[in-house]
Amino acid sequence: MSKSNNSAAVTRRHFLSVSGAALAAASAVPLAAQQANQQIRSSDHHLPNEQQPGPNNTVNDSLNPDSVWPSETDNGTMLPFKYSFDLSHKEIDSGGWTRQVTVRDLAISKTMAGVEMRLTAGGIRELHWHVSGEWAYMIYGSARITAVDSDGKSFVNDVKAGDLWLFPGGVPHSIQGLGPNGCKFLLVFNQGDFDEFSTFLLSDWFKHTPKEVLAKNFGVPASTFDNIPKEKLYIFQSDLPRPLAEEQQQAGMGTGTIDEKFIFRPGDMKPSKVTAGGEVKIIDNKNFPVTDIAAAIVRLKPGGLRELHWHPMSDEWQYYVSGKGRMTVFDSGSKARTMDFQAGDVGYIQVSRPHYIENTGDEDLLFLEVFPIGTYQDISAAEWLAHTPTRLVDEHLRTGDDFLKKIPKNETVVMPL
Ligand code: MN
Ligand code: MN
Repeated sequence: MSKSNNSAAVTRRHFLSVSGAALAAASAVPLAAQQANQQIRSSDHHLPNEQQPGPNNTVNDSLNPDSVWPSETDNGTMLPFKYSFDLSHKEIDSGGWTRQVTVRDLAISKTMAGVEMRLTAGGIRELHWHVSGEWAYMIYGSARITAVDSDGKSFVNDVKAGDLWLFPGGVPHSIQGLGPNGCKFLLVFNQGDFDEFSTFLLSDWFKHTPKEVLAKNFGVPASTFDNIPKEKLYIFQSDLPRPLAEEQQQAGMGTGTIDEKFIFRPGDMKPSKVTAGGEVKIIDNKNFPVTDIAAAIVRLKPGGLRELHWHPMSDEWQYYVSGKGRMTVFDSGSKARTMDFQAGDVGYIQVSRPHYIENTGDEDLLFLEVFPIGTYQDISAAEWLAHTPTRLVDEHLRTGDDFLKKIPKNETVVMPL
């Protein structure tokens, strides 16, 4: 058979397979359909082309139904945009533990990285700083945080579950778990290859500075520094701090204090948007002036949808706090992938790639959207279509004018149920 005859046969089979009659008879002729490279699906995935002989990781499969049998709208090669803290190495120290998800774990997360940390009551994350900014969200318990800004002003304050903080790059700081049972929190950095295990530590720096230089710098005998720990401290157990007012007063002597500058308490703010489907709180440099990392806290009720949208200025880093959901990300060149998320998972969306998030569970879905720029920005599909001549949109989507005229003129963010 000549080449041209062969391709003609394929073309004829393809034509037959997409006709209505062929689709109706699909389950009877799956082999022919496969030869024509036609996707044939059944609602309960019972066809021969949908069987998945083992071995299978059935636990992973149950958490990722959209990877086991993807939606027919998914297509092409998308970089994975999901990772879970549960797969990360956990470093355990006397005062708690930590683990991270960076570009080393999730290849597309080039502009942001995240850290989970647990501190016991009294457990201290050593005085330190880093080049990137640190945005934080307290998940459980409470902590005492400290910093000093470039004017030498002192910051000492307590944060509880639901509170945020922002330490700009280069600003030295510490975190200490409070009673009764310490805390757990999330840190997000505007640097994809951030490494929590390689920050500037106070004890490490002094250990690597000649003692006679330290003596000259502080005007004291060199023996003052004889007891600097030889091993790194990093996360270590200590007693609980002194009362807040006492520590604020003592640390602020001479230069004064900035007790609220680096903290934001979302519990005290009204939602930026509320609908029957959920709510969103946007925290960026408009209401939290110090921040160069914008964020949104999104709560979706069961069935709720964070509407189709994208972010024109930066990538988005997500953390799922509670509940279950799915997200489809579309990319140019007909590429789309749907992945499933639950508490402890990280999601990542590259700049300007459109996406939605849908609550697929039976409890509220709570997740964080974090951006490596100070001002929150998005473009929604509905807003775009609502403010383009209906005639023009109809020529693309053929939905009819009626539908287009009814699209809300202002961005909804969270769709009503
Ligand atoms: Mn830090
Ligand atoms: Mn988004």
